[in-house]
Amino acid sequence: MNSEKTLVQGRSAIVVGASLSGLMTSLALARAGLEVTLLERSARKSRTGAALPVAEGLLGRLTGQPETGQQSVPSGAQAWTDIHAALRDAVVADARIDFRAPVLVTSVGEDRRSAWVSADGGEVLRADLLVGADGHRSVVRVSVSPDTPDAEFSGYVIWLGLVDESAISSPAWPSDLAILYEGDYCLNAYYLPGEDGSTFTGERRLGWGWYDAGHNELLRRSGVVKGNVVQRSMRPDDMPDSLFKDLARAARHFWPDPWREAILDCLSRRSIIGTPIGEYMPDRLVTERICLVGDAAHLPSPMTGSGFSASAEDAMALGDAIERCDDLGEALRRYEDRRLQAAQGLVRSGRSFSRSFAPRGAAQ
Ligand SMILES: Cc1cc2nc3c(=O)[nH]c(=O)nc-3n(C[C@H](O)[C@H](O)[C@H](O)COP(=O)(O)OP(=O)(O)OC[C@H]3O[C@@H](n4cnc5c(N)ncnc54)[C@H](O)[C@@H]3O)c2cc1C
Repeated sequence: MNSEKTLVQGRSAIVVGASLSGLMTSLALARAGLEVTLLERSARKSRTGAALPVAEGLLGRLTGQPETGQQSVPSGAQAWTDIHAALRDAVVADARIDFRAPVLVTSVGEDRRSAWVSADGGEVLRADLLVGADGHRSVVRVSVSPDTPDAEFSGYVIWLGLVDESAISSPAWPSDLAILYEGDYCLNAYYLPGEDGSTFTGERRLGWGWYDAGHNELLRRSGVVKGNVVQRSMRPDDMPDSLFKDLARAARHFWPDPWREAILDCLSRRSIIGTPIGEYMPDRLVTERICLVGDAAHLPSPMTGSGFSASAEDAMALGDAIERCDDLGEALRRYEDRRLQAAQGLVRSGRSFSRSFAPRGAAQ
C-alpha cells in the first residue's frame, strides 16, 4: 500500500544507511536540532575483521554531550563491530532520532519544497534534507552525480578475519600492527581489544586483512563483481573449497606466526569475508536538498586507513554547517566547500596504492 509522510517542515532530515556514517551523521544532525529519520535495509549484525582508528572523544564531539561510562566509543584501534554497537546504542538513546530497520530505500529525489525517499513497502517519506550514508553502491549518489554514479572495481580483494588470541598458541608479535608484502600479496595484521575490552596479552583478538589481486576471475564468476562494479562482499557460502585451499597454502608459505596461525584458524572455521575493493572519486557532494557522506560520498582504498575518520569529519562538518546556517542550500554548499577537496585527496592517495598493487586494475 502506498502511503506518504511529511516530516516536520524546516527541521527534518532523512538519513539512508545506518552503518558507521549514517549513525554518526544522525547524531550530528540531531545535535544541530533536526528531527532525524534513519533508514537501514539490513536487520543483520555483520562481523568483519576490519579495525578502524577512533579519535579521542568522538561521541562527545558528535552529540555535543560529555561521554559517560555507559555511552562512549573507546579511542584507538577498535573492531568495526564494537564501534558500530557503541554508536547504535547512542542513536537508540536519542529521542530525536527515529531509527527504522529493515527498510530498503529504492529511489530518492527532491523538488522545491522537500526531498523524498521511496521504500520497498511503498511508503514515501519527505523531509527538508536527505543524506545518503548508504555506502559504496549508494542509491542516493545517483541523484547527486547522475553521470558518474558507480564506484569502480580496483582489481583486488581484501580477505578479512578475526580470532580470539586465546585460540592462538604462537608467541605474540612484538608490535600491535604488521604490514607485510610478499609476492602479489599484502597483509595488514593487528591486535584489537578482546570482546570485553581487555588489551592484556592472551585476552585480545587478532584481526587480519589480506590484499590479493590473484582471484579476480573467481570474483567475477561468483557475481560479486560485474563488469567494473563491485556488487557485494563475498561470504563463506559463496566460496569454493579450492579458495580455502589456495589461501591456506599461501598463508603457510608466506606469512609468519602468529598471523599464519590466525589466518589458518579462520580458514578452518570458514570465518572469512572477501571485500572486492572499489574506489570512487567525487566531483560533488550536494544538490539543493540532498547530500552524501562517508563511503557514498568518497570511496578510498582501505589501504589509506582513513575512510572512517573522513566519514566522521563529514558528519561533524554537516552538523556544524546546518547548525550555523538557516538557509539549507547555503549550509550544504558550505559543507561541500569544507569536505570536497579533502575527500578527493584521500581517494587520490588510495589510487596510487591501487595502481602499484594491481597495475592492470579491473582488467586483470
Ligand atoms: C575491509 C575494509 C577495511 C577498512 N579499513 C579502514 C581503516 O583501517 N581505517 C579507516 O579509517 N577506514 C577503513 N575502512 C573504511 C570504513 O570502514 C568506512 O569508510 C566507514 O565504515 C564508513 O562506511 P559507511 O557507513 O559510509 O558505508 P557502509 O559501511 O557501506 O554502510 C552503508 C549502509 O547503508 C545501508 N544501505 C545501503 N543501501 C541502502 C538502501 N538502499 N536502503 C537502506 N539502507 C541501505 C547498508 O546496509 C549499510 O548499513 C575500511 C573499509 C573496508 C571495507
